[in-house]
Amino acid sequence: MLAEIIAVGSELTSGHVLNTNSAWLAREVEAYGLEVISHVTVGDSTDQLERSLRLALDRADWVFVTGGLGPTYDDITKEVVAKVCDRPLLLSEEAMAHINDFFKDRSQKATSNNKKQATVPKGADILANPSGLAPGIWLKNQETTLILLPGPPHEMEATFKASLTPRLAHIAQSAIRRHALHFYGIGEAEIDSQISEIFPDNSNPLVAPYAKSGEVELQVTAYGPSVQAAEDLLQPVISALTEKFKDYFYGIDTGHLKYPVSNLLAQGNWSIASAESCTGGLLSKWFTDVPGSSAYFAGGICTYTEKAKQDFLQVQAATLAKHGAVSAQTATEMADGARAAFQTDLAISTTGIAGPGGGSPEKPVGLAYIGLATPTGTFTWQFQANALQTKSRSAVRDAVGRAALFHLFKYLKEKA
Ligand code: ATP
Repeated sequence: MLAEIIAVGSELTSGHVLNTNSAWLAREVEAYGLEVISHVTVGDSTDQLERSLRLALDRADWVFVTGGLGPTYDDITKEVVAKVCDRPLLLSEEAMAHINDFFKDRSQKATSNNKKQATVPKGADILANPSGLAPGIWLKNQETTLILLPGPPHEMEATFKASLTPRLAHIAQSAIRRHALHFYGIGEAEIDSQISEIFPDNSNPLVAPYAKSGEVELQVTAYGPSVQAAEDLLQPVISALTEKFKDYFYGIDTGHLKYPVSNLLAQGNWSIASAESCTGGLLSKWFTDVPGSSAYFAGGICTYTEKAKQDFLQVQAATLAKHGAVSAQTATEMADGARAAFQTDLAISTTGIAGPGGGSPEKPVGLAYIGLATPTGTFTWQFQANALQTKSRSAVRDAVGRAALFHLFKYLKEKA
């Protein structure tokens, strides 16, 4: 069954507010076997919305509209839907009771404007909105089902989950399940060639690789008569892939590496600090991006000059003179220095050449060393950013940071 999503609001077409509702809805409805064929964003214009609606009703079995259900003059969605579907707008006692309750709880009175929020096209069902005043609306119009949802994202999501999912689950003829498997350190081409060997008939489930900065994400998708049936189809494929590429695998649906690393740090009751040079504080940022990170991340020291490395991390002048700032020895002493300064179980360090200048034949742009000080010794790894990454300073930093996180991930996983 084909679905179309229409987001209504001039704040969206003007670019002042990012249309996140359509992306969220598209991901959600897929699970109920709906194939989203089009996203349309339209301003608060009666004519334009009418055109968009007529087109959507013509080509989709399901039309989801978000926004424009409020009480003000520029909230036009219901009026246009009523016109296009040729139905009068009637006051819904159910919606009005919800609005009155809302105001009673706050010792306020509904205004006449709020009545507008309680009108629905004749024959429509109310989709209760647990987070706000404007209810969603379910309207069957000939062969098409129209779903109107409030614009504020938290209201739209709450209405969808509370009032729509039970009905969608009931009518769904097929379901789609999708998971993202994350791998680091293996190329897209390599993984792709091996996938065709393992799954010559790569259709249902379908395995599709997406290359990201130094990483590959495998999206595995299955169709089945129910969510559970689709999930059951996926499980053996996920097991085969995670086993085959286990040296590179770091998580399912986890997103950025910082999340699984943070989980392992928290679960293992570890404490950690960072000592950064070429990543310029990126590791500190990634650790602190995750809520609750103060439970394991003590802090970071970003030392850019040799003097700062000596003063704050106790890197030896002799080490710098003999091996240079970009060396395994310096990375080791930086990690040891941070571990001692912060009194943590672990400390991770990075030192490298972010570019665009500063490279030499022996130490080219993109070369970096990563150190990991642990209770049982300090490990170092050499890293070289690839040709594409060395074109940009931020890409080198990102690549070195991810490499550092992946080494940390492997260490923590082994100790878990
Ligand atoms: P209200 O009762 O609050 O008026 P409404 O259904 O009329 O609800 P809108 O007025 O269209 O919703 O939008 C309210 C706010 O919700 C917008 O200012 C915007 O910040 C946010 N919003 C609306 N549509 C979207 C969207 N598609 N994606 C992200 N945010 C949105």
